[in-house]
Amino acid sequence: MKLLLLGCNGQVGWELQRSLAVLGDVVALQRDASCNPQGLSGDLGDTPGLEDTITRVQPDVIVNAAAYTAVDRAEAEPDDSHQINALAPAVIARSATKTGAFVVHYSSDYVFDGGGDQPWQETDAPSPLSAYGRSKLAGDEAVARCPRHLILRTSWVYGVRGGNFPRTMLRLAQERDQLSVVSDQWGAPTSAALLADITAHCLHQLARNPALAGLYHCAASGTTSWHGYAQQLFQQARALGWALRATPDKVLPVSSSHYPTVARRPANSRLDCSRLQTRFGLRLPPWQQGLTHWLQSISESPSA
Ligand code: NDP
Repeated sequence: MKLLLLGCNGQVGWELQRSLAVLGDVVALQRDASCNPQGLSGDLGDTPGLEDTITRVQPDVIVNAAAYTAVDRAEAEPDDSHQINALAPAVIARSATKTGAFVVHYSSDYVFDGGGDQPWQETDAPSPLSAYGRSKLAGDEAVARCPRHLILRTSWVYGVRGGNFPRTMLRLAQERDQLSVVSDQWGAPTSAALLADITAHCLHQLARNPALAGLYHCAASGTTSWHGYAQQLFQQARALGWALRATPDKVLPVSSSHYPTVARRPANSRLDCSRLQTRFGLRLPPWQQGLTHWLQSISESPSA
């Protein structure tokens, strides 16, 4: 099997380089063509380059881990966000339909408006609150038009590479005695490693049973708020020997109205992942477990 991986240096893309390797030859591309094999274009802003790459590589599977993920900046740059998150996935889906390739794509909890307190199901109507959410939804719709697709919709991703919430919290807890963290937004922190492992597992099964193709919610199990997430992080980090000034009880809960952001965020990002677990015979581990593993990984290499 030949796999084309786009966005190989992002949080999820980095883990996919590892997890997909068991399935076959992985051509891993990043935005900068000068870093890619044979000068292949991996830039989602370059439509002809992307089409040319797919034609030249002739992959059996295209895994798109590239995305415009600057949620607040997308409000000022909706065209850029739309190009990367909606138009480029449409190009990928069209090319894949022509060549018969399978497409894997990642969606976001931000396609929902965050109303209520029930976990969102795949059949629930999306209603994004932000430019980022609208661009992600348009990308989902484009990829879903390719007959052979897997869309994993996830939430609150963190990985060993790049900036993310737990890394920011650890830095702040080293600098300050006390922190205020939003306690009225709910979801499940999901590790990039878990998403990458599940992607490989699903592709392995899809090769035998193509009828499993479709959209699936995919997040670690359990629910917390950003506040509960920070408390759990500090508790675990201290147990591992991190010298943090802020203790878990010094994480103060605050309403999101205390932290106005440019883009509106959904309050309820809970995702019902039972379809994925039932159809693929998987168990999604508790979010705290992924956090433990992440902390152990970055404790060995704190500046990664
Ligand atoms: P990251 O921001 O860590 O990685 C995104 C990658 O996309 C980066 O490597 C970036 O490269 C690349 N990229 C951006 N623009 C382009 C472009 N024009 N051409 C090629 N590559 C580009 O994202 P994650 O790994 O966290 O996200 C993976 C997927 O999961 C995305 O689809 C995202 O929408 C989705 N998701 C993420 C969530 C999160 O909390 N992070 C939550 C829910 C869903 P560069 O470094 O060069 O900018």
